[in-house]
Amino acid sequence: MKFALINDKRTEATKGAKGFCPSCGSELVAKCGEVKVNHWAHKGSRTCDPWWENETDWHRSWKGQFSNDWQEVIQFAENGEKHIADVKTENGWVLEFQHSYLNPEEHRARNAFYPKLVWVVDGLRRKRDKPQFQKIIEESRVLGEKPLLRRVNFPDECRLLDEWLDCTALVFFDFQEVKELKDSALWLLLPRISNSEAYLIRFSRNKFIKLHQDETFDKVIREQILPIRDLLIRYVRNSSTNMQYISTNRPYNRSNRLSGAYSCDFGHQILI
Ligand SMILES: [Zn+2]
Repeated sequence: MKFALINDKRTEATKGAKGFCPSCGSELVAKCGEVKVNHWAHKGSRTCDPWWENETDWHRSWKGQFSNDWQEVIQFAENGEKHIADVKTENGWVLEFQHSYLNPEEHRARNAFYPKLVWVVDGLRRKRDKPQFQKIIEESRVLGEKPLLRRVNFPDECRLLDEWLDCTALVFFDFQEVKELKDSALWLLLPRISNSEAYLIRFSRNKFIKLHQDETFDKVIREQILPIRDLLIRYVRNSSTNMQYISTNRPYNRSNRLSGAYSCDFGHQILI
């Protein structure tokens, strides 16, 4: 953990220091070495939170984007279960920075525990994830700009996508793609809409952070991301039942059955 309580103050680890766990109250010892980031560890036993994972530089760099008060926030359920959220924003969003593999049951347990959960997944943990992801992006089709929306036809060819596609919370992949100076792109995976396709929206990392700091993340999700998802659901439903649909700017095309465009209130249009 990054913080322990020393005289009731949240304090970062320094060599030789001792403190107490803000969650279970037991003694913590400071671990300050060359290999791992400075952290606090429970004395002689594993951490009290089974969901906790050892932190990497990647975790710390993400958490450090947010104020100390938002980091490592203890969350309680009515039955007394408690967990330490990596970050909890003023608007109640819990951000979990996930480096290691989680199985679907673990996704489900956390999605159920945190009412407003966003996953940020480390895309660089396994060597093959980034090349696989780049390949499916290259083969994907652009359905809309601003935000950039892509349709992936064979999501199971990318292990990372396959592992997260059935997660019902929002998932952002972080491949640390440097697009512009000090900014990089994240990819938002929309929760599964169709059996054979996945939909991804590119998101600036800086924007992601700023939206949480400005407390406008809810607004963007409600007014931009969910309408896009609704459009896609309409499209998939229509395409599976082979029904005619309302085309806003192109006629029904028999040879290509569902060519056309859908648009939604805020002006975003997806081309099919
Ligand atoms: Zn503890």
